[in-house]
Amino acid sequence: MLWIGTSFKMTKTRAQAAEYAARLRTEVGRDGVPGVQPFVIPSATSIAEVAAVLGGDSPVLVGAQNAHWEDAGAWTGEISVPQAADAGARIVEIGHSERREHFGETDATVALKVRTILRHGLIPLLCCGESADVFARGDSVEHVLGQVAEALDGLADTSRVLIAYEPVWAIGEHGRQPRPDEIADVIAALSAKWGDRVAAVLYGGSVDQSNAGTLLRVPGVDGLFVGRAAWDVDGFLSILATARAVVGG
Ligand code: PEP
Repeated sequence: MLWIGTSFKMTKTRAQAAEYAARLRTEVGRDGVPGVQPFVIPSATSIAEVAAVLGGDSPVLVGAQNAHWEDAGAWTGEISVPQAADAGARIVEIGHSERREHFGETDATVALKVRTILRHGLIPLLCCGESADVFARGDSVEHVLGQVAEALDGLADTSRVLIAYEPVWAIGEHGRQPRPDEIADVIAALSAKWGDRVAAVLYGGSVDQSNAGTLLRVPGVDGLFVGRAAWDVDGFLSILATARAVVGG
């Protein structure tokens, strides 16, 4: 099974997100994409809209881009895991590098969040990845394994967890597409240490239609987490079609 997902980040109105979801519902259908688990992670304002348009039995999972570790309380501006679930989210993304850089997300808060997400029966999408400096020093494997260990060590059951390896130097408009050999060591290390204990190890960062097939064939990659290239629904559908072809051999 390959996991193919996108985060809309801070884009799309509710109407735009609903339009995207409606196209997805039509194109993916009720039966889904054989061998592929698609997911979409809209802004918090659109989670309920997207979940409603896709429908309760949709083969496309819906997620939230962040949630607090507490179930409720005086945390202005935050949403909780139960609130995200109530809106229709089945996945909660945590530890994205933009949240680590701009909003004070740390390995410690990620560890708290992963426990809350699992306690509520949802799927944590744990993002990890090294900066350009760490990459240049050749310390990527140690750094990323450390991030994941901080989040998951001590948990009895991590079988629902998705790990998304997203090198910071590859993410977003200032990122660059990686060569397969530049991500192979970290993916191999994650796969060796966590592959049997988590649901999937995904790659993310400057994925698009041109490199999706190549990246999906890197040994240990169980899926892709896509930003910009999937904000247009046709881009997402095209990457889903590539994944289907890869699964089909
Ligand atoms: C991301 O930020 O998680 C991401 C994958 O972005 P992009 O695909 O746009 O590089």
